[in-house]
Amino acid sequence: MAGDGLSDGMSGNLSIRLPDMIVITPSGVPYDAMTPADIVVISQDGTLPGAKRRRPSTETPMHLAVYHACGPAAGAVAHTHSPYVVALSATSDALPAVHYAMAGLGGPVRVTPYARFGTAELADRAVAGLAGRSAVILGNHGALTYGATLSQAYDRARTLEWLARVYWLAAQAGQPRTLTEEQLTEVADATRELRYGEE
Ligand SMILES: [Zn+2]
Repeated sequence: MAGDGLSDGMSGNLSIRLPDMIVITPSGVPYDAMTPADIVVISQDGTLPGAKRRRPSTETPMHLAVYHACGPAAGAVAHTHSPYVVALSATSDALPAVHYAMAGLGGPVRVTPYARFGTAELADRAVAGLAGRSAVILGNHGALTYGATLSQAYDRARTLEWLARVYWLAAQAGQPRTLTEEQLTEVADATRELRYGEE
């Protein structure tokens, strides 16, 4: 997360859903100091069985809400504060489809209205913004992506940041042309046919 420029300092968090538990990064531990012993195991309803060395991420309610709403397609969740996404979250209502890679996220990514970190309101807005998508941009905050596996969720976070950066560059040069829903569907179909997708 830190090395890829997706989060700064202690911001952002990652989780994985296992059959009867959630494994999530801790609150308040910098990535470069984090060890496996710092990772927190919680039950599916968010309770903490037994004593813990660390507190779970403050965004645990948002992770749990995504698992609850998105079903088995959500096996892992990545939440980042990547800079181009955050910049876009402060200026736009959506990230338009400037490149066909957007098909891998389900289409143009919505920007939700701002809500304070760690709140049920933020979790609700993230879930609403994810409808038909595997990515959402949280207003004046960051991004959330999910995937069947942690690597898929993480790759989507990187793709989302790349797309936000490309969009910013395109907007400097002129009025970006965007792909239609039909063109994105065609890409998704072709990808599935080639079995590049993991869906
Ligand atoms: Zn955050």
